[in-house]
Amino acid sequence: MRFFEFSQNNSGGRFEIDEAKGIGSSVYIEARTANEANEKAERIEIYFDGVDEGRDCECCGDRWFRASEHSGEKKIVLSEVYSFNWHPFVYVHHADLKRGFSTISKDDIGDFFTIKRSE
Ligand SMILES: [Zn+2]
Repeated sequence: MRFFEFSQNNSGGRFEIDEAKGIGSSVYIEARTANEANEKAERIEIYFDGVDEGRDCECCGDRWFRASEHSGEKKIVLSEVYSFNWHPFVYVHHADLKRGFSTISKDDIGDFFTIKRSE
């Protein structure tokens, strides 16, 4: 299993945030492959090709991009300085559906992620 990052572009000058569904400016999805992560992403209402579909601003570009097979990490590395700039939480959707998703703030300590502390 790997964690694939979906980093939201603020198309139209705003982010789409839904704390109850685990959607923020940075979302990770645990999956075996990028394809599997992309399918799961669409199930939690992340969408792709937003400009082509008329949902996203043409000049700003698509809000979300598919994960590539070259991405995906065994453990998530977050930055205390950069990962929480736009939203106070990073959401991680686990492969184990019973576990649902985790809401991580910069003060958290966890087993499947690390947070790089600033000096
Ligand atoms: Zn725009």
